[in-house]
Amino acid sequence: MRVVFPVTLDNGLIINGNEKYFLIDNNPDFDGISGYDANGDRVTHIVGFDGTDLLKRCTHPNCRAIKQSANGFGEKGRNSNPKRPMRRDQAQCSECRTHK
Ligand SMILES: [Zn+2]
Repeated sequence: MRVVFPVTLDNGLIINGNEKYFLIDNNPDFDGISGYDANGDRVTHIVGFDGTDLLKRCTHPNCRAIKQSANGFGEKGRNSNPKRPMRRDQAQCSECRTHK
């Protein structure tokens, strides 16, 4: 999902969008942290930031790739509740969703 910075994660970490590359945790088992972007849209499985976009881990058990939020998971999130404007990002990367 194309997020609007700053993004506030549930652990209190704020990503402003101008940081250098970092991973929150280098552990390959790390599933990432969820949070909200500046629009109040839900972001999930955030593992870091690459200098341009959030880095997310795909939740597909055979994939678990780390990809950019917008390029790797699709520009738009999904709306899980039509009565509310809040959207959330996709848990699986675009490639995994295509192969389903
Ligand atoms: Zn995937």
